[in-house]
This record gives sequence, C-alpha cells and structure tokens, in this order.
Amino acid sequence: MKNKCLYYAGLAVFIMISGCDNQNQSRADSALILQGSTMGTFWRVSLADVAPERKESLQKAVQRQLDDDDRTLSTWKADSVLSRFNRYRGSEPQPVSDDMADIVTEALRIGKKTDGAMDITVGPLVNLWGFGPDKQPVKTPTQAQIEAARAKTGLSHLRVIQRAEGAYLQKDLPALYVDLSTVGEGFATDHLARLMEKEGITRYLVSVGGAVLTRGLNPQGEPWKVAIQKPTDRENAAQAVVDLQGHGISTSGSYRNYYELDGKRLSHVIDPATGAPIQHRLVSATVIATTALEADGWDTGLMVLGEEKAKALALREKLAVYLIIRQGDEFVSWMSPQFRSFVLSP
Ligand code: FAD
Repeated sequence: MKNKCLYYAGLAVFIMISGCDNQNQSRADSALILQGSTMGTFWRVSLADVAPERKESLQKAVQRQLDDDDRTLSTWKADSVLSRFNRYRGSEPQPVSDDMADIVTEALRIGKKTDGAMDITVGPLVNLWGFGPDKQPVKTPTQAQIEAARAKTGLSHLRVIQRAEGAYLQKDLPALYVDLSTVGEGFATDHLARLMEKEGITRYLVSVGGAVLTRGLNPQGEPWKVAIQKPTDRENAAQAVVDLQGHGISTSGSYRNYYELDGKRLSHVIDPATGAPIQHRLVSATVIATTALEADGWDTGLMVLGEEKAKALALREKLAVYLIIRQGDEFVSWMSPQFRSFVLSP
C-alpha cells in the first residue's frame, strides 16, 4: 500500500496525497507543489505532469495574480478597489472590473437564496465584533451599537449594473460597506484554476485558504483527495474524504476563527438578523459546487441558518452539503444526497 500524508490547505479542509513521502517514488509520480501566502491565509497549488523547470515562473504567476486579487477585493487594504468603493459616500454607479461585478452578482444571488443569511454588506457588524481589520472589542457591543451597525447593512442597498461600456456597482446607502471575505477565497481559487488552464495545465489542485478546486487526476493517476477536518482536532484528522471530480469545495466553521469575550465564545460568522455572532449547534458547513466561489458563498449562508434551515435549503436547492453538528460532547454529521456521490470515505 502506498504511503499517505496530509497537507494542510486551509481552515477546515485539507488535501491528502498518496505517495508524497515515498523516497523511491519516481519524479513522474510526484506533484509539483507551489505555495505561498495571500489574503491573510495560505495558498497551495499541486500539479501533475508538469516539468519542474516551470516551477519558478508558475510560482511568480500565481503570486502575481493573487496579489492583484487582493488589491481588488480586500477590506484589509485601505487602497484596494473595494475599500475605495466602501469609502465613496455618493450613490452614482461606480465602474468596476468584470471580475468584481461577477463576484458581487454571485454573492447577491446566493444572499437572496439564503434570505439574507449570507450578506456581503454585513461588514460594519463584522468590524464591530472585531473580525475585520478593526481591533477586537474589549467589551461586548451594546444593543445600540449593534443596531447602529445594522442600519448600515442590507443586500437591497447594493446592485450591479451591466452597461455596454462595462460594469458598475451602485449603493443607495452612503455608509454601506461591502465585505467580500466570505467569497474572496473561492473567487481566487477559481481564478487560479483559470490561470492553470491558460498555462495548458489540465491536472491540478488549487486552493486558497479553505477553498479548493481540482481537475484531472493526481500524479499517481488517482483522484485528488480532499478531506474535511474533524472539528475538535488540532492536528489534521479526516471526518470525511471526497473526490471533487472537477468541482470546488469550501467549508465555513465556527470552531477555528473565534475568541472569548465576557465569558462567551464568539464566532466570526455573524447572523445579519440579530447583528451578533451565531450561537447554535451547527459547527461547520461544507459545500461542493461547480465553482469554488459558489461553494464559498453557500457555506457561510448555511452556517448562519443553523442545522434545520440549512438542511431544508440544501434539499430544496439540491446542493452538495456536509454538516457537522454538536450533540452534547459528540459531533454528528449529515450529508445531502448530492454530497454522497463525492464521498470516498467513510
Ligand atoms: P467564511 O465562513 O467563508 O467567511 C466568514 C467571513 O465572512 C467572516 O470572517 C466575515 O468577514 C464575513 N462574514 C461573517 N458573517 C457573514 C455573513 N452572514 N454573510 C457574509 N459574510 C459574513 N485576513 C487577515 O487577517 N488579514 C488580511 O490581510 C486579510 N486580507 C484578506 C483579503 C481578501 C481579499 C479576503 C477575501 C480576505 C482577507 N482576509 C484577511 C480574511 C481571511 O483570510 C478569511 O477570508 C476570513 O477569515 C474568512 O474566511 P473563512 O473561509 O474562514 O470564512
């Protein structure tokens, strides 16, 4: 049997590669690995059937593209395209790139489908609770502060306009603040896949943070394997292993990005209806979809909705969804019928 080792790829999913530390492995059997950091997280690209001589130029091309995406989408960079839009206080349509228009259009679509549970205008609340570029609060925000931040949110205040000369973003609430953190990693992952295609590469696994997309077979001629992290383990341990079959996967969880305030554990996923971090038994939602962007949008919406509504939405929209739910000291999992067809184990 071949050796197996685990490569950490993101917050809640990781990549399993057969034969990765086999000393006798031939060069043709090993993946060409590129990696680096971006957007406050890590990226990784594994390639099959690509000459090692291309490593340096591909590494540079990937980093350049991710740096460009970061300069467009970041709320952490004051000079990004998105930050400039957020600072703009008027209601005139603002010209944006097709990429930006596509991300916002997809995020608004999923936002509506989740009844506003996934809401990219939730930024003022994200920042109030200390999960954005602003500092963490030392005291629990008051209801008045929450309501003041909530008054600056709402999907209905943002729209994408497509004209013959290009795309525009428009807001009708001056203080509206768009936060694309929840879909940025998914978009960047799809963008890396397009870069690989442009480079003539057809067997790859690309990932940014917790979003992953694969195409073709790994160097051993097997499916690329992606594992969903067990929620309690500090080390990588698989709750389930999937073959993405050319799809994107993303996980949103409440157990990795959190802090404690006034004796309460606060997750970075905010319920736009209450203006506060979610408080329920659903600890992670994983989605497989045609694109990593789509998967990345749905997973946060499902997390906000909680166990029962998330299951109902997954069934209604025929989404490939895997949920992990806390039951006392235990964790139980649930998967939609669409998810089942991707599962290799258990
Ligand atoms: P997901 O579950 O996919 O998304 C949760 C995040 O979305 C929250 O952290 C919050 O920002 C937002 N959110 C919360 N509730 C909702 C909701 N109801 N609807 C919609 N969105 C919601 N982090 C840094 O520390 N430093 C950086 O410099 C930095 N730069 C970034 C640049 C870009 C372009 C992007 C996209 C992200 C950046 N981040 C940065 C954030 C970070 O890397 C992750 O994207 C973030 O922690 C969320 O990713 P996730 O997959 O863990 O969570």
